[in-house]
Formats: sequence, C-alpha cells, structure tokens
Amino acid sequence: MRNTARQTRENRTITVDFQHEATYFQLLDDGKAFLEFVFAFLLALGFQLKHKATCSGGGCLTRHSHYVRVRLCGVTIWRIQCTTCKAVFTVLPHFVLRYRQMRSDVARNALLAMHGGLSLELCAVIGHISPMALYRLVCALGQQSLVRVLTRCGLPLPVYFLADEKHSRCLTAKVYLPTIVCGRVLWHLGYTEAASTAAFTQSYREFQQAALQQEPSYRVRGILTDGFASTTSSMRTLFPEARLGNCLRHAINKLPAKLVAIASPVRKALRSQFHTLLYRARQRKALRVFALGQRLRHFADHVAHTAGTVNGERVRRWFQEKKAGWYAVLTDPQMPVTSTLLDQAHNAIERKLFAMQGFHHPRGSQQAFLTGLAHLYNLIPYQRRALQAGQCGVEVEGGKVPTRDWLLNLQILTSGGFR
Ligand SMILES: [Zn+2]
Repeated sequence: MRNTARQTRENRTITVDFQHEATYFQLLDDGKAFLEFVFAFLLALGFQLKHKATCSGGGCLTRHSHYVRVRLCGVTIWRIQCTTCKAVFTVLPHFVLRYRQMRSDVARNALLAMHGGLSLELCAVIGHISPMALYRLVCALGQQSLVRVLTRCGLPLPVYFLADEKHSRCLTAKVYLPTIVCGRVLWHLGYTEAASTAAFTQSYREFQQAALQQEPSYRVRGILTDGFASTTSSMRTLFPEARLGNCLRHAINKLPAKLVAIASPVRKALRSQFHTLLYRARQRKALRVFALGQRLRHFADHVAHTAGTVNGERVRRWFQEKKAGWYAVLTDPQMPVTSTLLDQAHNAIERKLFAMQGFHHPRGSQQAFLTGLAHLYNLIPYQRRALQAGQCGVEVEGGKVPTRDWLLNLQILTSGGFR
C-alpha cells in the first residue's frame, strides 16, 4: 500500500573512494577540492553519471547542498547538482553504506561469513547486528540488475551461456530459480513459484530485456541446458536464433538409468564406452556430427547385443530424443560442452539459501535477495589457496573491477547514480 503512495524518485547515489576517512573530512571543508576529487575518481572509473534523459551537459556539476546524516553519528554527506539538467547526486564516502547504520567494516565481515556459508544468525552475531539488517543489506545490493553491474565491469553480454533452474523451497512451497551462467559469472538468478514454460519465460525475459537495454543488437548464438522442458521451450521462445545444446556430461550420467535389470559391471562398461564415444566425437571436429550419428546407431546395436533388446530399444529412443542437442554442442566449437560451472554456482547459492531463514519468509523480497547473493558470487574474490586466488569471478572472465577492495566494488557498482 505504502509503495503506491510514495513518489518514485530516481536513485542517483554514487559511492566514492576517498581512501581514508580523514581525507574525506578534510575535503568537506573545501568545496573546490571536494568536487575535483569526485571528478578525478569518476574519470579514473570511466563511468558516466546518470543525468536526466534530456541533459546534454558535459558533466558540469556544482556543489548543491549538504545535509547531516544523523543516523550515522553525524557524518556529513554532500549532494551535487548538474547545472544543466538539475539532477542531484548524493555522494557517499566509501566508509558509509547507503541508507544504513551499519559500518562498512561490519558489513564486510558479515557478508563474507555469509558468502562462506555461515548461517544468517551467526553472521549477525559476528557484527552485533540483527539478522534482518543483514538480509536487508543483501536486498539493497540486489536493487541493481546483474546485467548492469557486469557490463559496468566491461564484460561483454554472453553470446553462449548455460541455462538451468534450481529447485528450492520457500516454507513448504516448491520454488524455482531460473539461472543463466557464463563461465564463472551469474548473469541471471530469477525466482518463480511455478515450473511452467510461461513462468520461466517471464523470468528469463527479465535478463533479455536488461541485455537489450544495454545493447539493442544483442543476439545469443548458443545455449546449453540439461533438457528440462520448461527451460528449453522458454529459451526457444526468447532466443529463436540460438542453437540449443544438451549437456554431454549429463548424457553420460543418465545412460546407466536407461539400462534396466543387468549386472552392474556390464552397466559400468557401457557407461565408459559411451563416455569415450562422445569425447572422441568432440575431437573429430569437422567430421564429428556425421560420425556421431553413425556411432550412436552402432552403440544402440551394441547395447542390444550386450544388455538385451529391450534395453537396446530404450537407449535408441533416448538417443533419438536427445541427439539434436548433442549435435548442437558438437557442430559449434564455441558451444559450452558441460553445465558443470552452472551446477557449481547453484551449489554455492543453495548453501546460502539453506542457511537463510529470511529467504523463506513468504513476503520477503526473494528476487532482490537472490540478485544480491549473485552479486556476492560474482564479486567476492576466491580464497588464497584456490586456483584463481585473489581474483573474483568477474576478473576471471576478463572483466575489470574499480578497486582492489571487493566491498567497495560492490558499493560502487551497485550505485544507482552511474549510467
Ligand atoms: Zn545533467
């Protein structure tokens, strides 16, 4: 009710790295130096400010007004205004979190502990904050879309990606998290209460629209799925020109279930032969599609011979149903071959959802919360002994982050005032 009455005002907050608190307080007394510092920071970042749509002004800003934020022990925050379009930008120093009483060092520890899989309650104990405050912080980070934040880091929109849905629970109800992953980065983490094509299409469309807004000519070339009907049909609806592939690793893992009432060693041997078949086909490059059709036929005959005609027939029908998706993977060398990275992302998110009572609140802001978690997944660096030690997912994929400090990066990149 309150939302409809409240006037929606554009969020034009920007977070600026003043490096030391003392520098900030010094600059507060010198308007010219303050503005120069902010300009230098923006220049180094390479971001544009979000002026009003009509503005053609070349970044002309004056210090407009200031107010004291009583909630933050009286830290003064400045607002600056564009002299042309009159848009007002709120400049937050790096040590202040937007609209929050929480100190950024407290938030840093609590978010890192949560990212590491500690329960919401224990994360809150670490920083002497309420679990709800932490929940709301993650939701606040989730106000900016994944597409916007990732493109701010200079990552190109994904031309090939993995799409799949995570099955989860909200209280007793089943819910689904339609997901898009490219390499180490989450591009979409949605939330639906139905597993229908319509529900998934609506969720994935949010990604598509955000992407088209960034780049109107955006086209997807290839998508890998695990073959769940609602996922594949929503992809076909939204990206009709894209090749749809089926994960090869899932195919190998599924084969044993198609072989009924046979001795375990026979089943194992067939699985390993099927594995060899698919991976040899991959290495054949130009010839591999033709080779695959022939080899699948031979393999089904081989199954009939070693495991009986009923199993042989079942495997043949399964091949018929799936082989187009395997061809799609093998004809385009840029197509992802397995959805392993997506499974890893889902597992990482699942641990947090399990630990997070707030998520199971039926009136919680699930979508904002999930997007916030996805930002953490993309921007928190891997631990020191990991393969990509010290780098975050965005950097592993070739993106650039504004500073060496992940929390500051989160604050800057999710600020509403940048274009
Ligand atoms: Zn302007």
